[in-house]
Amino acid sequence: MTVLDQFRLDGKVAVVTGGNRGIGRAIAVALAEAGAAVAVAGRDEQRNSDAVAQLTGIGATAMATTTDVTSRPDLEAMRDSVSQQLGPIDILINNAGIGIHGESLTIDDEGWDRVMATNLDAVWKASQVIGEGMVARGSGAIVNVGSMSGMIINRPQWHAPYAVSKAGVHHLTRSLAAEWAPRSVRVNAIAPGYTKTEISDIDLPEYKHYWIDEVPMQRYAQASEIAPAALYLASPASSFVTGSVLVIDGGYTLW
Ligand code: NDP
Repeated sequence: MTVLDQFRLDGKVAVVTGGNRGIGRAIAVALAEAGAAVAVAGRDEQRNSDAVAQLTGIGATAMATTTDVTSRPDLEAMRDSVSQQLGPIDILINNAGIGIHGESLTIDDEGWDRVMATNLDAVWKASQVIGEGMVARGSGAIVNVGSMSGMIINRPQWHAPYAVSKAGVHHLTRSLAAEWAPRSVRVNAIAPGYTKTEISDIDLPEYKHYWIDEVPMQRYAQASEIAPAALYLASPASSFVTGSVLVIDGGYTLW
């Protein structure tokens, strides 16, 4: 076996929440290219179908599930349909996420709750719903998409609920990793920096100083630059890695 063989996922079944666009879609493509059968779980059926078409276009086995990750019944239905159609789930990528911006005195309870429900509670619920089978089988890999925002305070746009949710994702990652390591279920996270997708306004000229000039690499990432780290953590290449939060930020958190 060569080192590159350790990145292969042939015969594995993966679920990518929010896999229909942005970072999640890039991860879905990476896992499919590595040989996994991939289920894309998101709310928008048309985008889900488009993502599946891209995956099947590269020769992968793929399916979509219309899933709101904040709903435990949706997550259970997703687990059941993926297991029936593709087989037991080996890899869970908890990627779905939302952001809201605003000064803390302007954010209402609904905003706080919506961010927590999507970014943190859903990672907990999906890890329970899918992790139960992994623990029972004694194998599995979970990769959570955290953020450098869970480690530093971004400026000049404030987003306290988002930052707190991502810090929670990082620590949930460590908690589950420790609990499930004896059952050979690995739990890791990636912490991307500024990445060009629909969620981020990183092209706005008024933020260029903070979001580009202050990044040591002086640019933002493309989603395709985040995906390989998720593949690493999902694959046997990282067989002795658990509880890690892998930062992919062009050096931003170095300052
Ligand atoms: P996008 O807005 O491009 O994509 C978000 C994805 O999440 C969509 O596929 C969306 O699908 C899905 N999603 C949102 N809410 C739900 C829900 N309730 N149920 C199911 N799916 C949902 O964002 P990004 O690709 O930029 O972000 C992906 C992840 O990366 C997020 O967790 C984000 O916090 C994180 N991240 C992003 C960074 C960036 O700069 N872009 C930096 C650091 C971290 P649908 O609407 O169809 O449900």
